[in-house]
Amino acid sequence: MLNSKEILNALRDVAGQRALFAEADRVRAANCGQTAQLRGVVHFSNHCRHDDLYCGLRRSNRNIKRFRMSPEQIVETSLAIAAAGLRTVVLQAGEDAHYTREMLCGIIRGILDKADVAITLSLGERPLEDLLAFREAGAARYLMKHETMNPTLYAEMRPGHALADRLRTIESLREMGYQTGVGDIVGLPGQTLEDLCADIGFFQDFQPDMVNIGPFIPHADTPLRDGAAADMDLMLRVFALTRIVTGNTHLAAANTVATLDPDNGQYRAFIQGGANVIMPNCNPFLKSKTDKIEYEFQITTRKRYVSVEEARNVLRRAGRVPETASRGDSLKMQGGRF
Ligand code: SF4
Repeated sequence: MLNSKEILNALRDVAGQRALFAEADRVRAANCGQTAQLRGVVHFSNHCRHDDLYCGLRRSNRNIKRFRMSPEQIVETSLAIAAAGLRTVVLQAGEDAHYTREMLCGIIRGILDKADVAITLSLGERPLEDLLAFREAGAARYLMKHETMNPTLYAEMRPGHALADRLRTIESLREMGYQTGVGDIVGLPGQTLEDLCADIGFFQDFQPDMVNIGPFIPHADTPLRDGAAADMDLMLRVFALTRIVTGNTHLAAANTVATLDPDNGQYRAFIQGGANVIMPNCNPFLKSKTDKIEYEFQITTRKRYVSVEEARNVLRRAGRVPETASRGDSLKMQGGRF
């Protein structure tokens, strides 16, 4: 357990970050070993009803070319991911009411009927009845980033939304039996080190099954276009502290980290930040030309699409072996919480 003062001191301590990174790597090795989780992401819609200030998919952005994949395309892509040897499919989209409860349950069942994979959903907030139906259809995991634990900053960044509602939904996901993932954005305009300290305190208290930390990178078509991108070293200190306080939580080296530092971002997240998960973009797995989707999922400007091959290269470079023997479920399932 770290207290707030210790977390804040470590966040501030640039000179001491080498030791922090070494400790995060030690905790990662002790809890996760040398295997890494390789998880295929399908971005199936970039429509979104929300208007979050930092996000290129926000509904007010008229410059984005919107797309939706059909249920058949989503299932086909997911099965191609499974055929490539990945054991987790992450279905991600903006909050898009076009996909009804029935459609999404059909997609989940369509994948699980034919492939031995775990399905992670990242669909934002839906009615609790929907979330329960997805769980009953077989979805094992749900990723719902809390974004920031500062309620004022949260309301400012996500107009019309309250942090308390988000946290209630996250609790509900856990009660429904989902392996639950949360995460924050590092470097949001107006964010303080105290805010990041609160995020890490939340990770410590909640002990999520998965954490996804991403940097703020200004998107040209958003109100935050003139903001400064996150500081890579600070973000890695947040990663490292998160690993230290959560022990065996699955911690993703998000693809936005590769946008912030294309050559070394994800590699550093693995060797310095304690990451053990990488989630390549798998939309190009759609093979047939007629099904080709004009594909734009730019939460940040210049977002890099990390292919499976690139992800494998990051793991090789970091000395990690992709997990293939199991679906890579939560390591906390053996730890007594489940
Ligand atoms: S962050 Fe998610 S919910 Fe918010 S605008 Fe972007 S896609 Fe929509």
